[in-house]
Amino acid sequence: MPKVINSVTGPISTQALGQTLTHEHVVSANWNMRMCYEEWFNREEFLAYAAEDLRRTREVGVTTLVDVTPVCLGRDTGIVREAALRSGMQIICATGFFFTENQWMYNRSVDSFLHYLMHDIEQGLDGTGVLPGLIKMCTDRLGVTPINERLLMASAMAAARSGLPVATHATHLNDGAQRQMDILEQHGVPLSRVVIGHCGDSNDLDYLEAILRRGAYVGLDRFGDEAKNSLENRVNTLMALCERGWLDKILISHDYVSFVDLGAFEWRFQREKDPDDAVYNSRYIHRYALPLLREKGFPEESITRLLVGNPRAYFEA
Ligand SMILES: [Zn+2]
Repeated sequence: MPKVINSVTGPISTQALGQTLTHEHVVSANWNMRMCYEEWFNREEFLAYAAEDLRRTREVGVTTLVDVTPVCLGRDTGIVREAALRSGMQIICATGFFFTENQWMYNRSVDSFLHYLMHDIEQGLDGTGVLPGLIKMCTDRLGVTPINERLLMASAMAAARSGLPVATHATHLNDGAQRQMDILEQHGVPLSRVVIGHCGDSNDLDYLEAILRRGAYVGLDRFGDEAKNSLENRVNTLMALCERGWLDKILISHDYVSFVDLGAFEWRFQREKDPDDAVYNSRYIHRYALPLLREKGFPEESITRLLVGNPRAYFEA
């Protein structure tokens, strides 16, 4: 059944999603550093770059991009909306908190975290009035710490109250994904509305099927991040899952970001960059993964299922 969902430029029907990348980011620029040092980030220069980057991704056939940037990772919904308007890309944003622990999180109750999530859901993100289309929850190498558990509980409660789908950030190096699903189920969120993120970094079919058997989607969402898993492995694992009957429960994406202040970068180098300087960008699936899948005999209708049918079903669940 078609459903109306929130994009940064207003409500859209799930019928209009088209080819959708379900785990991406436009910008991740630390707010503390931006506030303290003007040279850290240039909004106008970045916008021109991001709009061009997104325009090129539209050119390969992608019509919708889901930006799952959480609070504490430099979410800037005003920039995302402007980049969507300039590029014509439909973009859906998220509410939720990252797994990193900040001073203000200590001794904070589940209800307090929930208050801020519901603020986003009811009043919009970052003062823009843009409503989120999904909820992000994050667990990583720290595992489910006491703070993380409260964040996961608040996110699960927000998902139960709002009916929004959930996208997670998880690592296959610990039991975070299973713990996330436990907490979601305990709060009455059907796992058919949930995608466990970063599953594609693993080629362990037991790990992946343990998630799929509970009814959640697996996010094979880092295509192009060769350091974490090679293209050959990612494609082989995807095909092995499809052979076992899981085609309808797989979401593919890149986890790419047009600008991230990770490590020792300097803004002046950003200025000289072209969006295609690196092969890893939000066109990688179309340029490298799909040709390899076709070469290996993966059916065209299954590619359409991955890019169009599954994202739509996830938002309609
Ligand atoms: Zn991500």
